[in-house]
Amino acid sequence: MSFDSIPKDLRGLRACLVCSLVKTFDQFEFDGCENCEEFLRMKNNKDQVYDCTSNNFDGLIAVMSPDDSWVCKWQRINRFQKGVYAISVSGRLPNGIIRDMKNRGIPYRPRDTSQR
Ligand SMILES: [Zn+2]
Repeated sequence: MSFDSIPKDLRGLRACLVCSLVKTFDQFEFDGCENCEEFLRMKNNKDQVYDCTSNNFDGLIAVMSPDDSWVCKWQRINRFQKGVYAISVSGRLPNGIIRDMKNRGIPYRPRDTSQR
């Protein structure tokens, strides 16, 4: 199967390594991550989008009302914005960003369920 047979939209999808929000590369570049922009600062920063998101993720959940969804509590995303989230995201944040998050008091939990 060649890469060209995959629809453009799907091929461009990436998941945030911190909150597992799924968007296209362009959306991350233009808007950043709705939940993590404060410390990931991906807006207009292609390198940062590559570092902080992964195109290797599994399972999608569409979240409409994060507050009263048990799925979201289970996935620990009930405090996040509405959107589409991945169940598992492969990849690891660069150490510098993990350190930066620690300094802000934000615990980083890898979203890669295959390593648990
Ligand atoms: Zn995020």
